[in-house]
Amino acid sequence: MDAETCLKKLSYVGVLAFATVDEHGAPQVRNISAIHYEPNVLYFFTARGKNFCRELLSDGRVQVLGYTRYKEMIRLSGKATPADDQKKWIDAIFAKQPFLANVYPGETRDIGMVFCIRDMEIAYFNLGVNPIFRESYMLGAGAISPKGYEITDACVGCGICAAGCPQRAIAEGTPYRIEAEHCLHCGRCAENCPVKSIRRL
Ligand code: SF4
Ligand code: SF4
Repeated sequence: MDAETCLKKLSYVGVLAFATVDEHGAPQVRNISAIHYEPNVLYFFTARGKNFCRELLSDGRVQVLGYTRYKEMIRLSGKATPADDQKKWIDAIFAKQPFLANVYPGETRDIGMVFCIRDMEIAYFNLGVNPIFRESYMLGAGAISPKGYEITDACVGCGICAAGCPQRAIAEGTPYRIEAEHCLHCGRCAENCPVKSIRRL
């Protein structure tokens, strides 16, 4: 798996959930299908009068979530900015999504604004395989934020965490080691470690 393949998979999902933060710090989520994909940039359309547009202009942070029929969760986190050459991208999105001409017929599409996300962290999480598989990728600038759990040198090798892990994602060793690509981030190992040697990242 890689970032470009994740974007391609999202394009097959079609309708994605976009989450922003409003001026009161409350989460806001809505479904968007007016999307155009370049190999490593995502463009999407909204209307200037919508709260969604205001939230993007004032804060810009956005998370985009899609779920495939194969039980793959793909989450993209980034900052949305207005695209250069608005007309070009509005027309590109309308060409790809013919239903939009029904929603914004004729010139009314000029109330639209296209945003793009260039720098993004993509989390891929597949619950349809055994063991589960997860990985994160970066597109553009930025760094992947560490998540999940880590076993520290305080581990005494008792094996309790490995025996109780629902995904058998902990390997023996000194110290024991969590296989991050198979970890659910459930925290069961950390709760059960008798010497508290597992820390949340
Ligand atoms: S439960 Fe704690 S001490 Fe025991 S093997 Fe796991 S990390 Fe090490
Ligand atoms: S967080 Fe859950 S899935 Fe991950 S290693 Fe610990 S027990 Fe296993």
